[in-house]
Amino acid sequence: SEALRARMEERLLGARFRYLNERLYTSSSREAAQLFRRDPEAFEIYHRGFARQLARWPQNPADCIVRYLRRRPASLVVADFGCGDCRVARSVPNRVHCFDLLPLCPRVTVCDMAQVPLEAESVDVGIFCLALMGTNLQEILEEANRVLKPGGTLLVAEVASRFRSLPSFLRAMAQLGFSCLHKDLSSSFFYLLEFTKSGAPRGRPGPGLQLRPCLYKRR
Ligand code: SAH
Repeated sequence: SEALRARMEERLLGARFRYLNERLYTSSSREAAQLFRRDPEAFEIYHRGFARQLARWPQNPADCIVRYLRRRPASLVVADFGCGDCRVARSVPNRVHCFDLLPLCPRVTVCDMAQVPLEAESVDVGIFCLALMGTNLQEILEEANRVLKPGGTLLVAEVASRFRSLPSFLRAMAQLGFSCLHKDLSSSFFYLLEFTKSGAPRGRPGPGLQLRPCLYKRR
């Protein structure tokens, strides 16, 4: 019947989403870029699944980031690493550079966020909203450090259960030149962390930088 067919299709989409999601968390950013370049349909499936997961959350972390930006001057230049559907860029007056592996909307610059086409020290606010995904987080965060102005802001929103130890993550971030200004741990789903760029990376960060993959349950 139609209903059965629709249910089977739903199941299959869910399974493909969970598979792709796991791949993204367990590959380097280069491998992820390759995966989606070869199979653009996979990107679409990933995003449908992602949107469905987020719809179940009491709050979308991108909206918290929008509220944060609205409290600060609109003249600040923003870079959104792993921007998805550009929810942030569409909701603030700032100039926002949007980076992702494929374009869900026309304002996206397609690239691997480990290597973005921006000048050094050209950005006031960097954002990783549920986007710290590759196994090469050090390289990705070094790139964010490169493009941020000294004293610039880095906002990280990540699923709470990904952190093995928040203090050791923050120590690793400090090694990478980001000191934590504010932690918002009020949502049980995600942490919202505000950093300031205190300087250039100071060598290899500790193992606390590694986050657990965020695996979604079958429902
Ligand atoms: N920030 C958006 C989307 C989060 S989903 C939001 O909060 O709604 C994570 C996004 O990061 C996906 O769109 C994925 O394609 C992107 N991403 C993952 N690895 C990436 C990489 N290496 N370079 C650029 N984008 C990446």
